Amino acid sequence: MSTVDYGAIVSRHRQYFLTGVTRSAEWRESQLIALRTMMQDRAEDFYDALWTDLRRNRTDADLTDVKCMTSEAEHALTHLRKWMAPQSVSTPLFLAPSHTQVRFDPLGVGLIIGTWNYPVMLTLSPLIAAISGGNTAVIKLSEMSAATANLIARLIPEYLDREAFSVVQGAAPETTALLEQQWDHIFFTGGATVGKIVMTAAAKNLTPVVLELGGKSPTIVHSSANLQVAVRRIAQGRWQNAGQTCTAADYVLVFKDVAQAFLRQLKETVLHYYGEDPQQSPDFGRIVNVRHFDRLTALLESGTIYHGGQHDRDDRFIAPTILVNVSPDSPAMQEEIFGPILPVLEVDSVRDVINFINARSSPLGLYIFAEDHRVTEQILESTTSGDAAVNDCAVQPLIHDLPFGGVGNSGMGKYHGEWGFRTYTNARGVLYHSTRIDLGVRYPPYDHNQILRELVVPS
Ligand code: NAD
Repeated sequence: MSTVDYGAIVSRHRQYFLTGVTRSAEWRESQLIALRTMMQDRAEDFYDALWTDLRRNRTDADLTDVKCMTSEAEHALTHLRKWMAPQSVSTPLFLAPSHTQVRFDPLGVGLIIGTWNYPVMLTLSPLIAAISGGNTAVIKLSEMSAATANLIARLIPEYLDREAFSVVQGAAPETTALLEQQWDHIFFTGGATVGKIVMTAAAKNLTPVVLELGGKSPTIVHSSANLQVAVRRIAQGRWQNAGQTCTAADYVLVFKDVAQAFLRQLKETVLHYYGEDPQQSPDFGRIVNVRHFDRLTALLESGTIYHGGQHDRDDRFIAPTILVNVSPDSPAMQEEIFGPILPVLEVDSVRDVINFINARSSPLGLYIFAEDHRVTEQILESTTSGDAAVNDCAVQPLIHDLPFGGVGNSGMGKYHGEWGFRTYTNARGVLYHSTRIDLGVRYPPYDHNQILRELVVPS
């Protein structure tokens, strides 16, 4: 257990927050520029760390972590002043003359608890939102992606304002100690089990939380789908980062009449992407640790292996695997897979699809491959999910202006772009009321005429 005085860290950041320094647009911009510079200057270090932790190749690292964070900081810089600008709203006549505004006030000191699968994005993206909102923050990195955690812990104090930001390393004991502190906001990314621990701790101080959790994101392949494009996109979304992606297609529901063609083309695509021996492919990642490796290899028993299945514990390698004949009651269909295994189940109708999805917890993502617009709309109208994509999967978090986050069991709260700014600010309604006119009818003793009531609630 660490001997770090977390209370002192929070107190230092709160004192700094209370000086008002972090409220100005200039300070926020300076920190976003510093973060962008850090990503640009130290890109090589980030590539190395991500390779060490997860064997992520550069293209993949850029798409979701390195260039992606540069671009998110850039987006915030471009729009920050517009987001910060107070918004005027109309005021009822009985309060005239006046004007009314919504201001977006910073919250204070935030705690950001990240996880290991996209260790840069999942800590720096909430940090960009916290900075945009004018907050200070403590970032807790995941112990499971240690090389990246060490790097971020070294770089944040080098590039960002040390009075405003701290990095804490460690595992459950350190997170537990951090959760005992008084925060103004807690942002957690990880599994639902720890998410409940976080929410329980936050409840003690009525601290607002964002929980970015996971779940089983369904992927529907309709008879009308463009199969060639569908298999390419599903394969990329499922097997990127060796399947350790919260938004990945967790399982496929394919319509019976196209099931065999879909499976055949999916297998061809996997071979094309990663070759006959995917263990040698520079584009295929590794499982983060042996605990997850053992969990995942046990899931291979949940069905018949249509393709893949090879594994090597010493190398934490599991081949891209397609499972068929998977029972909905099997372990692979009960827990989030979070690895390179894709169960493919056959369905007969749109109604089957809707019933299947609605019988389970609300997923983080939902993906529909169909050219028939009515099918797409019917499924979207009858189900729910944190996000969704039509004819694509797992790329929607890269769109800065789309709200990202779960619903129900996949989490609560949204971020990215302006959604992150809103999450990290209090929308504070302010009435500026002139004293030039002061209608007597609003004050007791009332003369019981209808004027005030008519003004407030016109008949
Ligand atoms: P996890 O929940 O075990 O760990 C996340 C963080 O919690 C880590 O920093 C860890 O140190 C801390 N932690 C672990 N045990 C703790 C405890 N007992 N008390 C306090 N803190 C503790 O992470 P995981 O389950 O390995 O992460 C994978 C999950 O995260 C998947 O479900 C995935 O879908 C989800 N995820 C969601 C998103 C998203 O953006 N919605 C992104 C990535 C991952």
